[in-house]
Amino acid sequence: MTRQTVLVTGGSGFLAGHCILALLKAGYDVRTTLRSPAREAGLRATLAATGAELDGRLQVAIADLTADAGWDAAVAGCSHVLHVASPLLTAAPPDEDELIRPAREGTLRVLRAAHRAGIKRVVLTSSFAAIGYGRPLDRPYDERDWTDPAAPGLAAYPKSKTLAEKAAWDFVDGEGQGLELAVVNPVGIFGPLLGPDLSASIVLIRTMLEGKLRAVPQLMFGVVDVRDVAELHLRAMTDPAAAGERFLATAGDFMTMRAIAEALKAGLGQRADRVSTVVLPNWLVRLVARFSATARQAATPELGRKKTATGAKAIAMLGWQPRPAAEALVATGESLFRLGLVSPPRP
Ligand code: NAP
Repeated sequence: MTRQTVLVTGGSGFLAGHCILALLKAGYDVRTTLRSPAREAGLRATLAATGAELDGRLQVAIADLTADAGWDAAVAGCSHVLHVASPLLTAAPPDEDELIRPAREGTLRVLRAAHRAGIKRVVLTSSFAAIGYGRPLDRPYDERDWTDPAAPGLAAYPKSKTLAEKAAWDFVDGEGQGLELAVVNPVGIFGPLLGPDLSASIVLIRTMLEGKLRAVPQLMFGVVDVRDVAELHLRAMTDPAAAGERFLATAGDFMTMRAIAEALKAGLGQRADRVSTVVLPNWLVRLVARFSATARQAATPELGRKKTATGAKAIAMLGWQPRPAAEALVATGESLFRLGLVSPPRP
C-alpha cells in the first residue's frame, strides 16, 4: 500500500521537527518546507540523530511564507497539511508587520495552495496567543475565547497569531469552502530540543538556567510538551470530529514564573543552581521598563494578572493525554545540557 504524504511547513522549527518525527512514526511519508536549501542537510542530520528512518520518506520543498513561489509544488500529492511555520521573535520588531505579514498572508498562501490541490484537511498551528490576550477573564480560557487584536498594548506576536487564525477561518468559510480546517492553540511549548535552534519559549529556560534572570517577574505561563503538541496535531488531522474545531493545548493550569523556576530546581538538582526564585515586584518591573528593553517585554498589561486555561476539549474529544508540565520543563533543561547549549554550573 502506498503511504500518504503529509506536508509540514517550516521543518527547521522546534515543533515542526517533532511533528515530522510523529508522522514518520505513525507511518506517513513527510514533505517539509524550508526557506533555504542550505538548511536541508542540517535538518536531515538532526532528525536522523533521533534514530528516525528518513530514507525515501522525507522530501524537502523550498518556500517562504512571504512569497507565492513554491507553495503549489509543496502541497502537490499530499493528503494533509500541517501549517506550523510562523515567525517568532525573541525581541519585539520595530515594525509589527514583520510578524503579522508572514503569519497572516503566509497562512492564506498555504490554505489557497491546499485548496487548489484538493487537500482534505489542513491543521493550523495557532496559539493561546490568539485566545487569551487583551481580554481578562475570571474563568479559565477555552476555545470560545479570542484575543482582541485591537487591545491597547497588545504585542505584535499575539496580534499576528490572532489575525492569521481569523484569516484562516474566514478563508474556509468563503473562497476555500470544501477544505477542512482544524486548529491547535498551544500555550508555551517546552520539552526536548532536537537541535541547536532555540525557539522563543526555550530561550527563556536557557536564560533561567544560565542565571541571567536574577529575579522573576509576576507573569503566568501555560506549559505543554512539544511531543504532546505534535501528537495533538496528528489527532486533529485524522479524527473526523476535529474538522472545524479549535483545540487549546495545555498540560494543566498556568504556572507563575516562580513555579517554573521551582520545577526546574526540583527536576534538575544542582544543574539548576543558577535559577533564581526571587520574585520582582510589579512596580519595579514597570520602573525599569522605562530604561530597559528586556524589562519592557515583561511590563505588559499581563504583568501581575492571574490567568489559566483548560485543555479539557482536546482530552475529551480527541483522547489527548498530555504529560505533566514539570516533565516538559525538565526535558527542556536536560536537552539544553545534552546538546551543550548550556554549560552546567561549576561545582
Ligand atoms: P520556531 O522553532 O521558531 O519555528 C518557526 C518556524 O517558522 C521555523 O521553521 C521558521 O523558519 C519558520 N518561519 C518563520 N518565518 C518564516 C517565513 N517567512 N517563511 C517560512 N518559514 C518561516 O518556533 P516553534 O516554537 O516551533 O513554533 C511553531 C509554531 O507554533 C508557530 O506557528 C508558533 O506561532 C506556534 N506556537 C509556538 C509556541 C511556543 O511556545 N514556541 C506556543 C504557541 C504556538 P526558519 O528556521 O527559516 O527561521
